[in-house]
Amino acid sequence: MLPILMYHGLHRDAASRGRFDAVYSVHPEMFARQLDWLVEHRQRSVLLDEAMAGAHHVDERHVIISFDDGDVSNVDVALPLLAERGLRAEFFITTDFIGQLGMLAPDDIRRLAAAGMGIGSHGRTHAFLQDLHTAALMAELDDSRARLQAICGRPVDALALPGGRGGERELLAAQRLGYRHLLGSVPGPNRRPRRDAFLQRLPITRTLTLDDFAALVQWRGLPPRWMKARHAALQMPKRMLGNDGYQRLRERLL
Ligand SMILES: [Zn+2]
Repeated sequence: MLPILMYHGLHRDAASRGRFDAVYSVHPEMFARQLDWLVEHRQRSVLLDEAMAGAHHVDERHVIISFDDGDVSNVDVALPLLAERGLRAEFFITTDFIGQLGMLAPDDIRRLAAAGMGIGSHGRTHAFLQDLHTAALMAELDDSRARLQAICGRPVDALALPGGRGGERELLAAQRLGYRHLLGSVPGPNRRPRRDAFLQRLPITRTLTLDDFAALVQWRGLPPRWMKARHAALQMPKRMLGNDGYQRLRERLL
């Protein structure tokens, strides 16, 4: 099993620095408690390269901590809390957001990289890749990676799908461009993590209790079932409305 936690921003409230989201912004104190839980339960936080190399002791429990979008709280709040505990995380950054209000600047990304964190692409514009023609799809994948490589001066070979949406075409395109780690957001524990399929992730939301967090990481009890049911329920309007219509519906609901 390889649980991959999916965070976005860490915000106390809507007035906090960064882009607050009522669903996905996790309170910094709750984030700290979640990290402490991982440490206490000997879940070793690793980066994708190490996890996918497959070389670890059988009794070792690996977990991957990941962040999407590139909110400024990734460096303001997450980095010190991770560093204090000797933990590492993967940061997936949408490159057109770089330097925007409330988002990471190039120097912030270099700080994350210098601290031993993973840097990956989350697209150039955050467009849902499935909606794009092939040329636009390739540009999203290639431009974002080139920009991130130029900023942090090292190869970038991981991609997290914007909005979690993508299928076979997106997988093949990313692989053809040299991406080695591909992450979606279908909830699951990655029982057998594979390179030729999107890795599953566990979205960590604002209202998740510590008990439910523990159940998700260990993939037992009811919370995994609730998460799968919620994902399935959200897939239905996505299919009926298309990505644009779904996004408008979600914005209205929130
Ligand atoms: Zn995103």
